[in-house]
Amino acid sequence: MTDLIDGYDAIFFDLDGVLYLGPQAVEGAVEGVARLHRAGVATVYVTNNAARSTAVVAHHLSDLGFGADKSEVVSSAQAASGLLRRELEPGSKVLVAGTDNLVEQVRLAGMEVVTTFTEAPVAVIQGYDPAMTWPRLDQAAIAIQRGARWFATNTDSTRPTEHGLVPGAGAAVQAVRNTVDHDPEVIGKPFRPLMDEALRRSGAQRPLFVGDRIDTDIMGAHAVGIDSFLVFTGAHGVRDLCLAPADGRPTAIGWNVLSLFEPARTATVDAGGATCGAIRVRVDEGEAALEGDVTTREAQLDAAWALAQLVWNGSVSTAEPVLAQLDQLP
Ligand SMILES: [Mg+2]
Repeated sequence: MTDLIDGYDAIFFDLDGVLYLGPQAVEGAVEGVARLHRAGVATVYVTNNAARSTAVVAHHLSDLGFGADKSEVVSSAQAASGLLRRELEPGSKVLVAGTDNLVEQVRLAGMEVVTTFTEAPVAVIQGYDPAMTWPRLDQAAIAIQRGARWFATNTDSTRPTEHGLVPGAGAAVQAVRNTVDHDPEVIGKPFRPLMDEALRRSGAQRPLFVGDRIDTDIMGAHAVGIDSFLVFTGAHGVRDLCLAPADGRPTAIGWNVLSLFEPARTATVDAGGATCGAIRVRVDEGEAALEGDVTTREAQLDAAWALAQLVWNGSVSTAEPVLAQLDQLP
């Protein structure tokens, strides 16, 4: 039986919730990445965070045991640099509301970096900056109101830390959004520019995107037409999977990175329900009902996959009775 990983030439990884959580590696992730390297599968680390350089990200990954090189890291700041180079005249004035890393990437694109609206920037780019101030957001907002093109590296509304959620780059973007009448052009997942940059840089023919969020990772993979794999070690769980819109449904699911080395789950749907492995989810007058022993995590994943098929095809009006039984999964 073939493993899920067979047939893919590269794995694109989201970082937070897939490979690490704050200062700690996620269970199974270091071993999983090492096995990929031994199997000759390329690894690409795709991050929406524009604040840190690729060298810093690679260093963090290496400290955790992943042995990453900065050439394997693709950031939204890099993708922003490429996009600005393609979209703006060389030497254009760009107001940067982000960290020094983003400033450097904008300069690498051949742009002149400015800090005030009075310098008449033709574009504004916003990225995550833990030292962001209101006066800098004011400058960005006024420049956009005066006609500057508006780019955002990413719009993640929150950022996970080991202590809890904190406001993400999207919170600062929303603050500016309140002052203007249109949305920014977004570079990071789930939008195309970052995913296109990862495809271009890796040269992968058949990559698989591994992520923990439907709204960024899985939808980002859909945006560029590549397969995706949802793991349950991070932000989203079975309820999110079931609620996923058509362009947010993963190709496969698994508990963590090591699940890449198992056969892909297949669910068989019939008129009365869906079967996956030894688990059957029955449809009883529009309600999902579970048949089989779901005491193991693997059986719970089988149940989740069968349940998701039934919700997605409209066979069940409520998944709650089954969701309540899947207590090992988030
Ligand atoms: Mg994540």
